[in-house]
Amino acid sequence: MTKDSSVRNKVLPTDLLSKSQAELEAVPDDELVTSYESMRDQKAPEDETYPNIRRLYGTPLEREKDRREVRARADACDAEMQEWYEKARNQPCTWWLKNHLVAKHALKSCLACGVCTAQCPAAQYYPEYNPRIIVDAVLSENEERLAELLKSDTLWYCGQCGSCKPKCSRENNLMGLISSLRFLAQLKGYHLHSVRGRQQYAMRHLCGGNLWNRACTLYFRNVDAANHPDFGPRYAKYHAEADTQMVRLGASPDRPGQFGGRKLPPQTLAEFRACVAWGGTLALWNQLERCAAEDAKKNGVSIDEYHDRVHREG
Ligand code: SF4
Ligand code: SF4
Repeated sequence: MTKDSSVRNKVLPTDLLSKSQAELEAVPDDELVTSYESMRDQKAPEDETYPNIRRLYGTPLEREKDRREVRARADACDAEMQEWYEKARNQPCTWWLKNHLVAKHALKSCLACGVCTAQCPAAQYYPEYNPRIIVDAVLSENEERLAELLKSDTLWYCGQCGSCKPKCSRENNLMGLISSLRFLAQLKGYHLHSVRGRQQYAMRHLCGGNLWNRACTLYFRNVDAANHPDFGPRYAKYHAEADTQMVRLGASPDRPGQFGGRKLPPQTLAEFRACVAWGGTLALWNQLERCAAEDAKKNGVSIDEYHDRVHREG
């Protein structure tokens, strides 16, 4: 290869921005990560901002980069924890209820008083949902009922608001119980049986992508006001002017400072990622990636099409 042709063939970082995840598969891990970081850290001389933070958000490049980073780090994670999850995956659901730290302390007994349901905003919104369905299934210790619950949309309706907990005279922690059961559903791959379960793959890249790259679960550019006409015109106006409104509220979008959307110092991001890694989250994200890849293949679609499909489904 001549020097000229090697220069001509070199892929510029910005070229990767327009590629699908499937097209990015051939790019080596280190080139992908370096390209992403060099774009993220490019400063605009005219106003000292980092405009690519916004451009990189939600792109196939960010998803593919995150998938590779998480896979590499999850494999290097605490071996004892990985082993425990591997064992749990192959055990009956009742084993999880007796052994998972949160699940085993979440439920004592139930008086069937219905106070939790009366407090529950999700039960008001979804007529087919009430938290006692979950309590009943867990207390039954019936493997078939539990598997059915883990494969259903019912498991995903709870908004994790915690309103039911302080009102329960038995001090049951339904929020914790449901969260633990969601982990189990994903560990066993049962989430692929429901619409809301499959959507966890899109959530992993939305909230998980925010956490991993921007150290915040919700990034102010996530919301599309067009999807929330029920919030009224002031909400739409706020989002149309999101950048100026965020600055007015003290945030620093695309520049060093505070709040979500800021330019994070490398040390802060590294410390934050270390905390995420030691909490078992990477094992869960890695499992979601594996399940999504298998489900996409089974359905004859690319991972890009799969992401868009589950994001919009239901
Ligand atoms: S409030 Fe507590 S005791 Fe009453 S139905 Fe709900 S979980 Fe059972
Ligand atoms: S934590 Fe879940 S089940 Fe409890 S009140 Fe909130 S939405 Fe309902």
